[in-house]
Formats: sequence, C-alpha cells, structure tokens
Amino acid sequence: MAKKQFKAESKRLLEMMINSIYTQREIFLRELISNSSDAIDKIYYKALTDENLTFNKDDYYIKLTVDKDNRTLTISDTGIGMTKEELENNLGIIAKSGSLAFKNENEAKDGHNIIGQFGVGFYSAFMVADKVTVLSRALGGEEAYKWESTGADGYTIDEAEKASVGTEIILHIKPNTEDDQYDEFLEEYRLKSIIKKYSDFIRYPIKMDVTTH
Ligand code: ADP
Ligand code: MG
Repeated sequence: MAKKQFKAESKRLLEMMINSIYTQREIFLRELISNSSDAIDKIYYKALTDENLTFNKDDYYIKLTVDKDNRTLTISDTGIGMTKEELENNLGIIAKSGSLAFKNENEAKDGHNIIGQFGVGFYSAFMVADKVTVLSRALGGEEAYKWESTGADGYTIDEAEKASVGTEIILHIKPNTEDDQYDEFLEEYRLKSIIKKYSDFIRYPIKMDVTTH
C-alpha cells in the first residue's frame, strides 16, 4: 500500500524523540516489553469470561531474539495481537496518553527527563532503530499484517504471513556513529541487565534467543 502520514502530533513527538540527545535510550525495551505484557493480559482476562478460551500458562511468554549479522532485535509475544485496523489506529497516532501535552507544560522545569518518567510507548523504538517492522496476527483472525516505518516519514501496512496469534516487533538497530553507540542493544548481557533494571516485575516469562550464523 502507499505510504501514509502520521498525524501531526505524532510527527512532532517522534521527531522530538528521535532527534533528542536523550541518554536513556534503553527505556525502549521497557516500553515494548510492557506492551507485550499488556497484550498477554488481554488474553488472560478474556479467558476468565470466555469459556471457549483457556489460558494455559506455558503458552504465554515474551521472547527477545537477536540477529547480530542482520542487526535486528525482535520482541515477540503470544499476546492478543492486532488486526489491520488496530495496527492503523494504535500505531498511527501517538501522544494519546498526553505525554506530549505534559512535556510542553513542563519543558522549562525538567525537559530532558520527561520521556524517562512517562510511558512514551511504542515510538521509543525509534530511538534505537532506523526501521521498525511489526508483524501481527489478532486472536480470532486468520490473516496477519505487517506494519513498517522508518520514522517520521510515515508507515505502510501490508498483508503478511504469521503462523500463530501474537505480535513481533522487529527493530532494525541503527549503525554506530562516532557519537552514538547502538551495538550494545544487540548484546545479550546488556539486554539482560536492561530487563532486570526495568522489567523485573513482569508476570510472564521473558525468553532470550541469540543467533549467530
Ligand atoms: P500505551 O501502551 O500507553 O497504550 P503504546 O504507544 O505503548 O501506548 O502502544 C499503543 C498501542 O498499541 C497499545 O495500547 C496497544 O493497543 C497497541 N500495541 C502495542 N504493542 C502491542 C503488542 N505487542 N501487542 C498488541 N498490541 C500492541
Ligand atoms: Mg505501552
């Protein structure tokens, strides 16, 4: 499909985030893991009232996969997934949570630390990735869709293949520059320490898979 434009607010927040000299880039992982956990929660709560759905604990987890050669970090989950419409509505607009309004009001006070305190959510992925691919299949749906974006210039949604229900967020990690290091986000020990720091309380298992070719 043709490339669509983000809503104006999204664009401003995205540009601000990507271009900021923000030091705590590592929080992107906290945001993505919390989204995965929320998506599993949604199945869990649905199963409480839907007798056709049983929640088998072992089937629900979050997995990090690193492919160093291709410079990708994938965060996958067996959560509720997203339909095409949900991909469009949930990932096409940011600042719904009011974090942009909050930043504008409080910039003078403590401008640089706002992102760390408030869940900016999904878009924080662009602090470490120059391209983000989201592959998702919703519970109850047969078809899967691929959402893809290289940042503020918009996104595409296309039909895709995915064997099971859930979501995969594929981060194409930025190359290192003289001033900025991104390789660390492809290192198992570094990812583990970020998880320990910010996501220790997550109720579902977080698995790790590092592939070397
Ligand atoms: P928030 O989590 O505060 O709602 P985010 O920017 O983190 O904001 O995520 C936006 C929305 O995108 C979520 O509310 C959810 O509907 C959807 N979403 C993001 N990641 C996932 C995921 N892994 N599985 C299912 N839905 C997701
Ligand atoms: Mg979130």
